[in-house]
Amino acid sequence: MGDYYSLQSKSNQSYEADTVILATGVNFGRPYEGEEKFLGRGVSYCATCDAPLYKNKKVAIIGSSPKEEAEAEFMSEVASEVYYIPAYKEQISLNDKIKVVNDTPVAIEGKIKAQKLVMKNGELDVDGIFILRESVAPSQLVPGLVTENNHVAVNRRMETSLKGCFACGDITGTPYQYIKSAGEGNVAALSAVSYIDEKRRANKQQNK
Ligand SMILES: Cc1cc2nc3c(=O)[nH]c(=O)nc-3n(C[C@H](O)[C@H](O)[C@H](O)COP(=O)(O)OP(=O)(O)OC[C@H]3O[C@@H](n4cnc5c(N)ncnc54)[C@H](O)[C@@H]3O)c2cc1C
Repeated sequence: MGDYYSLQSKSNQSYEADTVILATGVNFGRPYEGEEKFLGRGVSYCATCDAPLYKNKKVAIIGSSPKEEAEAEFMSEVASEVYYIPAYKEQISLNDKIKVVNDTPVAIEGKIKAQKLVMKNGELDVDGIFILRESVAPSQLVPGLVTENNHVAVNRRMETSLKGCFACGDITGTPYQYIKSAGEGNVAALSAVSYIDEKRRANKQQNK
């Protein structure tokens, strides 16, 4: 709205703010049956973060785009068996240790932990299931926001392409981890405070 932001809430209330910090995490899309039930118990969204938990174990990775292949390669250095289920049509380029399964995931089953990936034409008995999806474009949240690989593009001050709009945490990209999110949140808050301070001083100068 020019030099301030207007935010619309679900209850149709609107708020005005000099600065906005986007910290909405990532949107993991429509879940598979059993995905939410086993999240953190054999189901994960970040192969590079959780790979050590699957040393010498069997893992299935559902990749939404070719860029997820790097995570599968990383996992193959740790796990005993890696099944890769591509949810895209592009050519696949993976090392020989990874078994590519061309099928459609339907559900995740297990008792206390996830134990099985059920697909349209078969099943995989595994110790872990990684679901690597593209996040929903954050540009839908704030029109005109520059994004990179479906994440908000930021500089080291957590400034986005829009003046007064900052972003931090998972929404700015991987690794999806607490410590990165908290650190970026700290930087974003300090940057937002500086921005308000500079804006107030500029307004004072103008009014003199
Ligand atoms: C099962 C699981 C286990 C994990 N384990 C670890 C771990 O062991 N170590 C580690 O470092 N990391 C772990 N992570 C990752 C860690 O949780 C995230 O990196 C971190 O929480 C990201 O923080 P964030 O503030 O960016 O986003 P989130 O914590 O995702 O918070 C975003 C918030 O914004 C809200 N929101 C979204 N859209 C809107 C909107 N339009 N308006 C208002 N609110 C909105 C969401 O509801 C949510 O409450 C784990 C994640 C999961 C799912």
